[in-house]
Amino acid sequence: MSGVIGTFNVDSSAQALFYGLHALQHRGQEGAGIMVSNGTTINGHKNFGIAQKVFNETMLNELSGSSGIGHVHYPTKERRIIENIQPFLFNHSRFDFSVCHHGEIVNSNELRGYLEESGSIFQSDSDSELLAHLVNHHKKDEVKDSLKEAFNYLDGGFAFLYLTNDALYAIRDRYGLSPLTLGTLNGGYIISSETCAIDILGGEYVRDIEPGEIVKISAEGIESMHYAFNTQETVSAMEFIYYSRPDSSIAGINVHQARKETGKRLAQETPVEADVVIGIPDSSLSAASGYAEEANIPNEMGIIKNRYVGRTFIMESQKLRDQGVMMKLSPIKAVVDGKRIVLVDDSLVRGTTSRRIVKMMREAGASEVHLRIACPEIVAPYFYGLDSYDASELISNRFTKEELCAYVGADSLEFLSIEGLAKSIPQVGLYLGCFNHEFPTHLYESETK
Ligand code: 5GP
Ligand code: MG
Repeated sequence: MSGVIGTFNVDSSAQALFYGLHALQHRGQEGAGIMVSNGTTINGHKNFGIAQKVFNETMLNELSGSSGIGHVHYPTKERRIIENIQPFLFNHSRFDFSVCHHGEIVNSNELRGYLEESGSIFQSDSDSELLAHLVNHHKKDEVKDSLKEAFNYLDGGFAFLYLTNDALYAIRDRYGLSPLTLGTLNGGYIISSETCAIDILGGEYVRDIEPGEIVKISAEGIESMHYAFNTQETVSAMEFIYYSRPDSSIAGINVHQARKETGKRLAQETPVEADVVIGIPDSSLSAASGYAEEANIPNEMGIIKNRYVGRTFIMESQKLRDQGVMMKLSPIKAVVDGKRIVLVDDSLVRGTTSRRIVKMMREAGASEVHLRIACPEIVAPYFYGLDSYDASELISNRFTKEELCAYVGADSLEFLSIEGLAKSIPQVGLYLGCFNHEFPTHLYESETK
């Protein structure tokens, strides 16, 4: 996951970036950072924690400038050191620049080795630093040409922002795995991982950055070029299923509506007699509403979420995660008691959430609990930006569906089919490798995980 946002020719860019990061906060809570250019130098601040913890008003006021980039960090395979928090700032004798990204470069070890052999020294584990070195290694008169060449070497799923004192560059992977969008604001520009940040700033969505595209934004306006031509658009299905905010749109498709469609298909594929449909807040509420609508069963709020606890998954150890689920969700006994329940969740990864919540529903008096998952069984890690679990941790790799049903303690358990998922979001190509082991790139070192 992780999230990026950039501004060009936007008044009080530091403030705008901060509010943008706040809107993208669900994409990563490990660290946050902002770098702003005032036209001659780039300055900024970054630290561990959510944006609201990292920044205060004084800090933002001190960062003057009308362009900048910001990042919220989701830890993947890197060490938990401040050096890994983005954006990165480089003071080079030719020009200052700053870089941040989300996603994953799958051939980073090979590239790192090659760059170290030829003299680069790295401070972090981050692919953003890798890119900085790679761009510098392929020095050309114009930054855009260096970027064009550097990106030819990168394989994976990613969205990069590259800031200089006179331009902002946005680059998306050639497979379209990672979303990246362009908007305008009062004559200036916004680039964001998700459209929700453009909306919150009062901007206007223009379009998605294309797979393999480099967009340069400068005083001359927008310039588009491609570093790769054999591109395809296969948006990570996980963006629709879980990562993105429901009010965001990817490739023009609203995430809430896409989720609702998965819920409808799920109801068609796996009907069951029940009294009430309950979604697990927040990420499965859209799918639950679709299931209920299609099955003609009332959709009720049977679980409430404490707003002040972060995403369960982002906590590191299994023990903390278990506690997190308890702290976060509570049943509404009056809704659940004596009822046959269809419990909808967006995905099953380790099974922690479902197991807890099925138990919670029973304790609150549910007579039957039918668990319905609005995505197919996850059998492979997401190699392009979420390394937090490996294949052996995935519960679908450890149990058959029947065993899994017994493990989570449900009366029945069903998943949306892969075909059903693709049909729910027919407007765009989807990356489905987590469900079918089909990967658009060679996986290099990730393959052994
Ligand atoms: P589990 O509890 O099975 O390990 O994880 C599934 C639950 O965690 C779902 O309710 C989903 O909303 C949430 N979740 C948190 N982070 C992630 C993630 O990175 N990927 C997926 N698929 N689900 C996640
Ligand atoms: Mg959830």
